[in-house]
Amino acid sequence: MSARRIRFIDPFQPAQIRRLVRQFGSPLLILDCERVRVQVRKLRAALQRVDLHYALKPMPHAAVVQTVLAEGGCLDLATSGEVQLARRLGVDPARCIHTHPIKRPQDIRNALDFGVRTFVADNPDEVRKFERFTDRAELLLRVSFRSPGAVCDLSRKFGCDPEDVLALARLAAELGITVRGLSFHVGSQAGDSAKHVEAIHACAALMAAGRRRKLGMLDTLDIGGGFPIDYTQPVQDIGRFCEPLRAALADLPKRVRVIAEPGRFIVGPAAIAVASVMGRARREGHWWYYLDDGLYGSYSGQLYDHARYPVEPLKDASERLPSVLAGPTCDSIDVIAENLMLPKLEAGDLIVGRAMGAYTWASASEFNFFPKATVIAVNLTPGDAGMAMPFPL
Ligand SMILES: *Cc1c(COP(=O)(O)O)cnc(C)c1O
Repeated sequence: MSARRIRFIDPFQPAQIRRLVRQFGSPLLILDCERVRVQVRKLRAALQRVDLHYALKPMPHAAVVQTVLAEGGCLDLATSGEVQLARRLGVDPARCIHTHPIKRPQDIRNALDFGVRTFVADNPDEVRKFERFTDRAELLLRVSFRSPGAVCDLSRKFGCDPEDVLALARLAAELGITVRGLSFHVGSQAGDSAKHVEAIHACAALMAAGRRRKLGMLDTLDIGGGFPIDYTQPVQDIGRFCEPLRAALADLPKRVRVIAEPGRFIVGPAAIAVASVMGRARREGHWWYYLDDGLYGSYSGQLYDHARYPVEPLKDASERLPSVLAGPTCDSIDVIAENLMLPKLEAGDLIVGRAMGAYTWASASEFNFFPKATVIAVNLTPGDAGMAMPFPL
């Protein structure tokens, strides 16, 4: 037995939330690294033998990156800024892939200089950009499978049509560029795994066709992200979501390495947003509460990510009145939620938004000079919970 006493802090408990606001002010985004660990383990259990590359985009924060790496995970980088963050944290580049289908020459050079080897391309122009780096870079070809059912369909903007994949692989071969395999991203917050399954089957057929034509493509299949989490609407449990997906992957040839690029699933449930009431007014029979965080801040995901977060005041009361929660800016669209039944609130009362780790703080702005929420990462090291510190990027 270690002499060290293991303390656990659940930073989502009311007393802890109040303590953190007293210490660090408001608004906060409280990030629980222990919950990040739980999410990594859950996804790993549901997708055994799939390498998990955390996509930084939903929450490009050092604490998340370090937690994922300490759990044995890898990274999916997409921009020079993300490469820079990984470099600054001393990440082993062998654990990173670069997946933006469209890159400036400088972006490619930045990633190569860091030591990344695997890149993604989805069209002839982009493949040609690697002609000068045949000794240092390898490609995954991103295939597009339209996904109108997903909340965010990512296959419209990126990916080549399945029928164009072999021609693209042939072009790469002619230029001496190694193609390692295929990748896809069916869209974020997928309702079920049917699209993933369809895409895996289609990629398996393309990979077999590539092998017959001696075009390589058979080392890696990257199944992207899209793994869903609960917001105001519950979704399928991740084990059930991945069941059909596992069955589809079992049909691939044994030598194919499968990787995934989860973003939302890893970090979404691991953070809450805490805002304070700045002031209130009674308008047309409703109490309007003006918070120090809103649609231009942590709640930006309501616009960009089409998300609806469970939002509740920290204090409870039996009497509840029709209420509106509004953000701080002078813009009239800056309203978080209307037609809520809330206890009567006062200036300084705290409002908590849950499942707010993904696509929230990352897309927040400082419109009207209202600063972004301060990120407080808690439980940075497993088993040594008693630490909370601000993490400036
Ligand atoms: C955004 C993104 C992800 C993460 O998607 P989630 O739905 O958040 O899991 C993964 N890969 C790529 C290429 C992305 O653009």
